[in-house]
Amino acid sequence: MDHQAFRRYGHELIDWVADYFEQVEDYPVRAQVQPGEIKAQLPAAPPVAGEAMEQILVDFQTIVLPGMTHWQHPGWFAYFPANNSPPSVLGELLTAGLGAQCMIWQTSPAAAELEEVVMDWLRQMLGLPPGMTGVIQDTSSTATLCALLAARERATDFAANRGGVRQPLRVYTSEEGHSSIDKGVKIAGYGIENLRRIPTDERFAMIPEALDAALREDREQGLQPACVIATLGTTSSTALDPLEPIGEICARHGVWFHVDAAFGGTAALLDEKRGMLKGAERLDSFVFNPHKWMLTNFDCSAFFVKDPGTLIRTFEIHPEYLKTGHDAQVRNYRDWGIQLGRRFRALKLWFVIRSYGVEGLRAMVREHLRLAELSTCAWRSCSRAGWSPTRASS
Ligand SMILES: *Cc1c(COP(=O)(O)O)cnc(C)c1O
Repeated sequence: MDHQAFRRYGHELIDWVADYFEQVEDYPVRAQVQPGEIKAQLPAAPPVAGEAMEQILVDFQTIVLPGMTHWQHPGWFAYFPANNSPPSVLGELLTAGLGAQCMIWQTSPAAAELEEVVMDWLRQMLGLPPGMTGVIQDTSSTATLCALLAARERATDFAANRGGVRQPLRVYTSEEGHSSIDKGVKIAGYGIENLRRIPTDERFAMIPEALDAALREDREQGLQPACVIATLGTTSSTALDPLEPIGEICARHGVWFHVDAAFGGTAALLDEKRGMLKGAERLDSFVFNPHKWMLTNFDCSAFFVKDPGTLIRTFEIHPEYLKTGHDAQVRNYRDWGIQLGRRFRALKLWFVIRSYGVEGLRAMVREHLRLAELSTCAWRSCSRAGWSPTRASS
């Protein structure tokens, strides 16, 4: 494709996306297709010769689009909002256009430094402690896995310092904790039998006394507590685990304290919701997804840590071909997570935050909470009518 053609189709597709934003409610929320229906319309083998963009766009319109579920539809009430926004799409367009791979500072200095700055903006916006510092990950699942790996690193150092034999390491979350925690525990090699689910109270929040009892019991059994994962905004009921007493227990037992606020974390933009972060000084790590409730298109997950040293010790690598003369002065985010190659995700986040401003984002969250309150009222009248909600499992 030459530059002229790119320009023409580029303009056409921006118009297409603008129309989509304007008319998304005209589509059915869910794709009206049966399993296999899309696949049956696609050739099994790749085209040998290049095809005309006109034809590709026709097939997008007639084959792909009918098979899409419309997450941006105003009638979309599944999972979480996943709200996109025009500034986010424009930032993403530039990221794609630049095509930069942002694994280390030198491969894109602006990407590394913008990520550092934007993540500190986010930290301030949510009211996380000044000591915390952030890195963008693809998803909360990845961030929680990174926290579990860093916790394992710290715990095994503890074990080495005590000169003892390495005992099984234990991880704790509430009965309502997300399945990404099970997945992380499996991948990080803890063994799923070492994930302990702590009971919750009548508001579905973790019971701190039950956590403390579990940690003591495990120690007495010769097991080593390594990580506690609290949730702010559980999947089934948006329950909030009480960070302050849980953090105090973690500090007493010397375990890594991670918070999964994937969906609910954005609410901390509001002063009136900040209370959920009471006790955050004790956090070792925290994740929330701007791609869920902060007008940023998928994917963009904000992961904060108190001690980047442990995180870096977990992930760092120093092959000759990645060493640069600046390594002592800069952040090389390849050492802050699993991936080597990294997308320039900070750009769309910067577009979103600048374009709406903190006040604009707060207004969005406040409005969403107002709407949620309306549906809660409807829910309450259901209960009064004798329809009782049953406890859903996560
Ligand atoms: C959505 C969600 C996750 C998983 O997030 P991904 O970014 O899709 O990995 C984890 N925990 C909670 C509480 C969630 O709401």
